[in-house]
Amino acid sequence: MPELPEVQAHAERLSDAFVDRLLVKFVPLTFTALKTALPAPNEAYGTPLRSVGRRGKYILLHFDTVTFIIHLMQGGRLLVDEKKSAKPRGGQARFTFTESDGGDAPALLLTEAGTERRAGVWCVDAGTEESSPPLDKLGPEAHLVTAEQLLELFDAKSQRLHGFLRDQRSIAGIGRRLANEVCHRAKLSPFASTKKLGIAGARAVVEAIAETVAEGLEYERTRPDMSSSKDRPGGVHGSAGEPCPVCGDEIRAVEYSGYTVNYCPTCQTGGKILADNTTSRFLK
Ligand SMILES: [Zn+2]
Repeated sequence: MPELPEVQAHAERLSDAFVDRLLVKFVPLTFTALKTALPAPNEAYGTPLRSVGRRGKYILLHFDTVTFIIHLMQGGRLLVDEKKSAKPRGGQARFTFTESDGGDAPALLLTEAGTERRAGVWCVDAGTEESSPPLDKLGPEAHLVTAEQLLELFDAKSQRLHGFLRDQRSIAGIGRRLANEVCHRAKLSPFASTKKLGIAGARAVVEAIAETVAEGLEYERTRPDMSSSKDRPGGVHGSAGEPCPVCGDEIRAVEYSGYTVNYCPTCQTGGKILADNTTSRFLK
């Protein structure tokens, strides 16, 4: 799933390419693509795209009247669409544009690979984004949170660190991959209880988030389009069985039904191998 760095860099690319173009039409290509009934997308027809933003893992297309909020979920992409074919592969929704002088322009096509159909578009009144679903329940931006704020969030509820980092209501923008990388960078067990981490743990996590986000952004900004997961920089994610880039110990994995926790025992757990608790497959 694209996370904060990938979504941020993509918003920047789309901003460079699409700002000032006029929205002609928004067309959902499946019944589930548009998640809201009001306001109607046509309130933005004929008006220019003002900016492309990001909040958590969402992309925001800002017009004067409404904002479109787009979630890519696991396999979604928001693609520059030159062809505008009638039945695009994996097509969920399409924004068609003209140049500000009325000339022909490419469209933006929301696609989703696979059959899950969870990517989608919300249309909300401009200025109400933060108080409207789906953004209203999001925690603060992961890379903007301070150690003191994080400590408060850690203490609010006992949770495993990896789960806390992935929970968009605690902090927004981090997913399965960055959660692995942040725990490794902070030299903390993914299963550490957030209530036991204290201010030193909070500081280590803040620093690890800053570094991993900066690294991801730097890489992503060199690309013409969004990377796939295997290309993204990192030390442990998806690297089970390989040597830890820091200490050379073997990177381990704990498998869940939807994701894998990767960690280095020497760097993160004092050498302890975490249980691959198979019952968790059914509980998660
Ligand atoms: Zn290590």
